[in-house]
Parts: sequence; C-alpha cells; structure tokens
Amino acid sequence: MRWSLVVVALFYAVSAAAVPAASATQANTLPWWVFAGFIGLSLLCVFTTILWWRARRPQPTVTASQPPFHLLHDDISGLPNKWLVKQDFLTFITSRPQAQLALVLVKIDQFERVNQLLGYSHANLVLSQIARRLNQAAATHQGILPLSSTDAFVAHLGGVDFLLLVDQQGKQHQAGYLAHQLEQQIAEPLLLRGCAVDYRILSGISLYPQHGQDFSELVEKAHLALQQRLKSAADSPLYQDEMSATTPDKLAMMAELQQAIASQQLQLDVQPQVLLPDRQVVAAEVLLRWAHPVRGLLAPKQFIPLAERMGLMFPLTCWVLQQTIKMLATLQKEGIVLQLAVNISSSDLLQIELAEHIQQLLAKHQVKPSQLILELKEEALMTEPQAVLPMLQRLRALGLVLVLDDFGTGYTSLGMLREFPLQQVKIDAQFISGMHKSDAQVAITGAIIDLAKNLRLDVVAEGVEEQPTAEKLTRMGCIRAQGFLFSQPFALAGLPAWMRQHQFNQPAG
Ligand code: C2E
Ligand code: CA
Ligand code: CA
Repeated sequence: MRWSLVVVALFYAVSAAAVPAASATQANTLPWWVFAGFIGLSLLCVFTTILWWRARRPQPTVTASQPPFHLLHDDISGLPNKWLVKQDFLTFITSRPQAQLALVLVKIDQFERVNQLLGYSHANLVLSQIARRLNQAAATHQGILPLSSTDAFVAHLGGVDFLLLVDQQGKQHQAGYLAHQLEQQIAEPLLLRGCAVDYRILSGISLYPQHGQDFSELVEKAHLALQQRLKSAADSPLYQDEMSATTPDKLAMMAELQQAIASQQLQLDVQPQVLLPDRQVVAAEVLLRWAHPVRGLLAPKQFIPLAERMGLMFPLTCWVLQQTIKMLATLQKEGIVLQLAVNISSSDLLQIELAEHIQQLLAKHQVKPSQLILELKEEALMTEPQAVLPMLQRLRALGLVLVLDDFGTGYTSLGMLREFPLQQVKIDAQFISGMHKSDAQVAITGAIIDLAKNLRLDVVAEGVEEQPTAEKLTRMGCIRAQGFLFSQPFALAGLPAWMRQHQFNQPAG
C-alpha cells in the first residue's frame, strides 16, 4: 500500500508540472487522447487514493478468543457477567500460587416487592441504579480486585446477585469487614420518580482455597452462607462447612433419619421450668435427641438443621407432639397439672395440617389445649411472616400457649411482635449466662424484660445456672425460669416419678 502511495504522488507531481507547460506551448497541437488519457489517469489516482485511505482507517480488532462486549456484560447493569469474572478469578489464582481470595456474593433481598410495585421495566431501572451504587462503593475500598472491564469492581451474576473478588492479602477478616461496610453503604432507599424505593443488601462469603478451588463451587458456597443468613438471621456472612447439605456423610445421615422414628432411635428429654420465688414447677420443655446406633447420642443441633433443610422436620415434630400429648394425659391421670412445651420449626408452621393434627391429638388423649406450649424461634416467625400469621392465629384460637423462643437474638421488629398472637417470650440463655459477672448483661436483660412487659407478655429466663442470677431476675420482675440451677434435662418417661419425688405444689391448669 505504501508503494501505491508513492506512485500516485509521483504521477500527480509529473502531471502538475508537465500538463500546464504542454498546454501553454502546444495548446492547439495536442491531440484529444492526451487530455482523455490524463483525465482517465487522474480518476484512477483518485479511486486508488480513496481505497488506500479506507484501508488505512483503524478497524475494530476482533480476536478469535474474545467474545463481543454484550456476551461479557449484563444487559441491565452493563457490569461484567459471570463468565468474565470467572476468567479474572482464574487469571488471578494461576498468576499467584499463594493467592488468598474471598468471593463476596451480594444479593438484593426482597427485590420481588420492587418488581410487584413498579413493574419489570422500572424495577430494572432500580436494579441498574443499585448496581451502579454498589460498583461505586466497591471502588472506594481497598482489596477489591478491579475486573478486566475498564471501571468495574463488581460482576453481575444475573437476577439480583452480584459478585466481588477480594484479595485477602493475609488479612483474615478483610472480606467480612468489606461485606459489612457495603451492606451499610448501599442500603439507603433510592428515589424513583419521587418515590422512595426501599431494599436490603445481604452478602455471603466463601474463601479460596479454604472452601474449594473451583469457581462454581465457591459461588455456590457463598450462596449457602447467604441463605443461612436469610433463614436464621445469623450475623456472620462467612460460609461454614456444616452449611453444605450434600456431603456424602450428610446424605447417609438423611437416609438414616428417615428410618429413625420407625426404628425407635429418637428419644425425648424434658427440662422443668420453675417459678423463681418458690421453685414450684409449672412447666417443662421437651427436647429431642437421636440415639444413633453408630454415631452415639446426637444433640438436636447435629441433626435438626439437616432435617429442616431436607423437608424431614414435620414428621419428627408430629412424633414429638404425639409423645408430649400422651405424657400430658399420663400426668393428668396422676393428678399432676403441668404444662409441656414443644419446639416448633419454621417449616412446621407452613404445614397447613399442623393445627388440625394437634387438635386431633388433644381430643384423642383428652388433654386441655392450655397445657400445651409451642416454642417458636424468631426465624420461624420472620422467614415468611404473612404465611405464618394465619397459622399462629389458628393455633391460638385452639387455646394453645405460644412462646417466642430465644428472644433478643434475632431481628423481630416491635411491630411484628405486637402482630403475632404470643403470650410469652423466652429470653435467650446468652443474655442470662453473663448476668452474674457483667452489669451490661444485667442492663440488657432488664431492658428485654421491660420491653416484654410493655407488650403484656410473660417472661421466661432460660439457661439460669447461678443462684445470684435467679435472685437478680426475681428482683427485675422475671419470675419464670429454666436452667441447670433447677434441673438438667432428663428422660421424658421419668417425669411423673420426678414430679412425685419433688412433691411440688401444682398450680391450677
Ligand atoms: P432451646 O429451645 O433454646 O433449648 C434449650 C437448650 O438449652 C437445650 O439444649 C437445653 O439442654 C439447654 N439448656 C438448658 N438449661 C441450660 C443451662 O442452664 N445452661 C446451658 N448452657 N444450657 C442449658 P438442647 O437440648 O441441646 O437443645 C438445643 C436446641 O435444639 C433447642 O434450643 C431447640 O432449639 C432445639 N430442639 C430441641 N428439641 C427440639 C425439637 O423437638 N424440635 C425442634 N424443632 N427443635 C428442638
Ligand atoms: Ca426452646
Ligand atoms: Ca434458647
């Protein structure tokens, strides 16, 4: 191409000099074909020049391995997509053999409400604004890896899920701290056409190489950590091994759990609840154990979370209810008036047959509903409050006593507390256990007791181990308590004998 330019330039130079000179001297003698030839050659030069210029224009460089922009970025946010962030992850870990990376998965929680409220096209607008906010906030933090796209620190995995890669640089808590900061920074409502759009940001974290080497596996584990936070209002966004439902060990345990009821491996303990002034026993909490033929006696936390995740909880709860109501009938026959409390899982409250099942059992064994207490944890109420509320109202209408368990550990709003038909709250053992040595714990427990009383709820303290704690609680107006100070849990079958032996006065039922 450079040679054609030289030829064109030479031709123009010669023509520019020769033609005017020739025309000046021999204008009348030059034949017509000299002019025609000159014009023809000029046109040829012009075309050649145009072709040369077009060929010189910079062409978009398309490399065979790089897909076009729209295949690497999300349609809505324009941020790098999962494929691109995966390439960045692989590049990083292969270029640094000692790399320690955190995958921070960020989800916009309850975005479906925005969808319903605004419709999809406006909701997408909100989504892209939140994505921009997230990216801008991420850019202000050190340690978040810039992605191969020019100004992005956040990848959009699709839907309401985003991902950041954090170089831990040997700082163990770097990603957790960052995730917390981002959750706080992004959570302000957005204004869309004058309306404030509220949303919540939640994150889950997995670590390379501790939690795995494979990108998809790590993303899945960050998801599990996030789901756990949604389910249990857990504070830490970091993945823990027990969150994985699919280890071969857990799959085996799940199959065994299905057989556990039939093979009579489940056992029930019971722990008395007393009135603090005179230690009169007024109730007892029923606690489930699994006497596994190989693994030994398993505590609830070793199998109940698994049963909940695998949809196996309801048959277990039905079995506990059946045994408990049978025991209430036995106690009644012996003239012992006592309430028994059963722990109910969040998945149980979504089973429409729960209320009817309890009603039938109570009728069959001729037990008064007011003798049965159901203990519900905050997560059970808060996971799907709108679905759970009608069930609670049915249970309350039957005459059962409803208790909020582990009170103070979750994030039940006061408004929600008032809405649920509860009669009691059980202050979590973590507040009670430090009362004998920390004034701050005493103050917190005092505030919880006052709050419950203002809502006209009875208060039960659990985990009472020290006599001074029992005395402080009494002075603070909490008169019902449970804990090792009064009794360790023991086999449910031994309850009538235990009650007779202690010869407590029975309150009216
Ligand atoms: P929870 O409802 O908070 O039950 C009280 C737990 O605290 C019991 O542990 C009990 O043994 C323990 N505890 C009682 N007094 C004291 C004390 O003074 N100090 C200390 N440190 N601990 C005390 P457990 O039996 O291991 O039960 C753990 C959890 O498992 C229960 O916590 C409950 O959430 C769950 N659970 C037990 N049985 C069932 C059941 O039948 N169904 C469901 N859904 N959950 C159950
Ligand atoms: Ca309980
Ligand atoms: Ca508790």
